Amino acid sequence: MENRVEGGQVVSLAPTFSLAAGQRARGQFSSPAREKTNALGKFHMRTEDFQGLEEQVVQKGLCTACGLCVGACPSGCLEWDMEQEEPYLSGECLACGICGLACPGALIPLPLLEKKFFGRARAQEEEYLGVYTALLRGHAKDESLRRASASGGMTSALLIYAMEQGLIDAAVLAGMDQQRPWRTLPLLARTPDEIRKAAGSKYQLCPSLAGLKQAKPGEKLAVVGLPCQVHGLRKLAASGEAEGLSNNIVFILGLFCGANTSYRVTEHVIGEFSDVRLEDITKLVYRGGRDSQDIKLLCTDGSVTTISNLDRVSNYLWLIRDRCRMCPDWTAELADISLGDIFAGGQEGPWKKIPHWNGFIVRSQKGGELVEHARQAGAIAVGPLEEAAFYGNIGFESKKHGAVYNLQQRSRHGWPTPDFGCQFNWRHRKRAPFRIDLTE
Ligand SMILES: Cc1cc2nc3c(=O)[nH]c(=O)nc-3n(C[C@H](O)[C@H](O)[C@H](O)COP(=O)(O)OP(=O)(O)OC[C@H]3O[C@@H](n4cnc5c(N)ncnc54)[C@H](O)[C@@H]3O)c2cc1C
Ligand code: SF4
Ligand code: SF4
Ligand code: SF4
Repeated sequence: MENRVEGGQVVSLAPTFSLAAGQRARGQFSSPAREKTNALGKFHMRTEDFQGLEEQVVQKGLCTACGLCVGACPSGCLEWDMEQEEPYLSGECLACGICGLACPGALIPLPLLEKKFFGRARAQEEEYLGVYTALLRGHAKDESLRRASASGGMTSALLIYAMEQGLIDAAVLAGMDQQRPWRTLPLLARTPDEIRKAAGSKYQLCPSLAGLKQAKPGEKLAVVGLPCQVHGLRKLAASGEAEGLSNNIVFILGLFCGANTSYRVTEHVIGEFSDVRLEDITKLVYRGGRDSQDIKLLCTDGSVTTISNLDRVSNYLWLIRDRCRMCPDWTAELADISLGDIFAGGQEGPWKKIPHWNGFIVRSQKGGELVEHARQAGAIAVGPLEEAAFYGNIGFESKKHGAVYNLQQRSRHGWPTPDFGCQFNWRHRKRAPFRIDLTE
C-alpha cells in the first residue's frame, strides 16, 4: 500500500490524533461497544473490534466506502484499500469499538439522529427532503469559482468564506489523485486555494472521511460529505465516543447524492466511449464539455476528449454500487446545509440541469447563520426556491422510489439490508412545473 501525501492529497495516512500511550494496550481500553449505552439505543452496533465490523458490514456488502472507520480509528490501525475499495487492518486493533459505532453501513437510526441534531422529527411535508428551515437557490459570487464548480459553487464559496473568517482551519474534501488523475483521493484542504482546486463533483466513490486522520488535534473542521458520510459523522457524534474529533467538526455540508459508482466504472466508460489511454490522462473533469455534464479528458499531448453525458449516465445506471441501491437518503438529510442542482422542465419537456446554480436546503441553526453571514459578506447570492423544484431531480427518483423499492425487495428475501430505523413508503408524485426567477 502506498503511503504518500502530495499537494495536500492523502493516499495513506499516519494518525495525528491518538490515545494516550497508557491506554493503548488491548483490554485497558474502556470499550464503548461493550459497556456503554447511548443515544443510539439498539443502533449502537455491538462490534467489539474491526473483525466484527468486517463481518457485519464489509462482508455483507453494506459498506458505503465513506472512509470514516479509517478516519476515526484512534489507534490508526486501519487503512483504505484503494483497489478493493474497503478498509483493512494494517496494525493492532485495540478493540475500542469506535469504528462499529460510527459506521453508517448497516444501522442508521435516521429519526433518532434527526431528533438529536435538529431537535424535532420531520413534519409530514418534509417527508422527502428531511427537516429544514429554508429551501433556497444560490451561487458563488466569484464567477470563476462558480463556473469551475459542480453546480453554483456554493459549497466551495461557503468553505472559503468560513476559512477566511477563521471559523474553520481545514476542510475534509474529495480530491483527485495526481498520479492517476481519473481516480479520487481524500483531501484535507488547509487553504482557500486548495478548496478552490477541489471544486467539482467526482462521480466516483471517495473514502474522503479517511482524511480526518490527518487533522491535527484541536483543528476546526468543515466536512463535505455525501449522505452516507453525514450519517456516519452524526452517529459518531451521538455515540459520545471520539468526542475530541466530533467537537472539532464545526460544519457538515452535505451533497445531494442520486447514486455513486466505483473507479472501475469511470475506467470502463473511458475505455468504452473513447480511445484515450488511462496513462495519457492529465486531468478528468466529470462536468466539462458541451452540456456541462459530459466527462472531459485532458491528455499529455494537449488534446481534449469529451464523453457525452448520455453515454456516461446510461452506463452508470447499470453499474451503480450495490450498497447505493439501498440508500434512500437523497439530500443529505442530516447535514447542516445540503447542496445540489436545480433541474427545470416538467410538462414542457425533459428535465434539464440549470447550469451554475445550486438548489440547497438549510437544516440547522448554525447552517443558517453560515449562509446568512456569507451572503451579507457578498460571498454568495441567495434567493428562494419552490419545493416543487427539488422533485424534478434525477436523485429524487433513484432514492425515494428506486432505493425504497430495492430495500423492500431485499428484506422480503432476507438479504442483508441497512436498517434506517423507519419504514419508507412511496407513492406517485406528479412532477409539477415550478417558477424560478434567476434574476438576483
Ligand atoms: C456521487 C454524487 C452524486 C450526486 N447526485 C446528485 C443528484 O442526484 N442530484 C443533485 O442535485 N446533486 C447531486 N450531486 C451533487 C452535485 O453534483 C454537487 O456536488 C452539488 O450541487 C454541490 O455543487 P457546488 O457547485 O456547490 O459544489 P462545488 O463548489 O463544486 O464543491 C463540490 C465539493 O464536493 C466534494 N466532492 C466532490 N465529489 C465528491 C465525492 N464523490 N464524495 C465526497 N465529496 C465530494 C468536493 O470535495 C468539493 O468540495 C451529486 C454529487 C456526487 C459527488
Ligand atoms: S476503531 Fe480502530 S482500534 Fe477501535 S475497534 Fe475499530 S479498528 Fe479497532
Ligand atoms: S465506516 Fe464507512 S468505510 Fe468503514 S466499514 Fe463502515 S461504511 Fe465502510
Ligand atoms: S448513494 Fe448513498 S451510499 Fe451511495 S454514495 Fe450516495 S449517499 Fe453514499
